[in-house]
Amino acid sequence: MAILNVLEFPDPILKKVCKPVTVFDKNLEVFVEDLKDTILSHNYCVGLAAPQTGSLQRIILIDVSRARKPVPGKNLLVLINPEIIEFSDFKIVREGCLSIPDFTANVKRAMKIKVNYQDIKGENKSLETVDFEAHAIQHELDHLDGILFLDRITSPASDLFRRLQR
Ligand SMILES: [Zn+2]
Repeated sequence: MAILNVLEFPDPILKKVCKPVTVFDKNLEVFVEDLKDTILSHNYCVGLAAPQTGSLQRIILIDVSRARKPVPGKNLLVLINPEIIEFSDFKIVREGCLSIPDFTANVKRAMKIKVNYQDIKGENKSLETVDFEAHAIQHELDHLDGILFLDRITSPASDLFRRLQR
């Protein structure tokens, strides 16, 4: 078990595009366990993408049951090589990021998505989800393409908010 260091903006690694996972082996399992430990080490953390720990692989973890307002009936998701194939029901929502600890932002996200991905064994899966979980998946998936919420806001003056506490 290991808690990984989380990179913070403006670390240049956060701007890189990640590579697909092609080998589903013990090393991958160990790395995903480390990502889980890392999420658990941060209060209310609902998601983490591999590149935030310096590893440029297309892996994201989401757990909206850990939110400040937990979403009932949800558990940890491990999505490998995720791809969102349907987006609908767009809304402006507030989001934060472990890599940008001093700010939150208003960002436009789809409240309903369908995502294809592979599980830890490399099996193809599909998931339809809504609301906060859908929103969190879009945020984490952006990390795989080097996109931060700072890249999604239209106006820093009206869409960016300084956090009062970390
Ligand atoms: Zn983030």
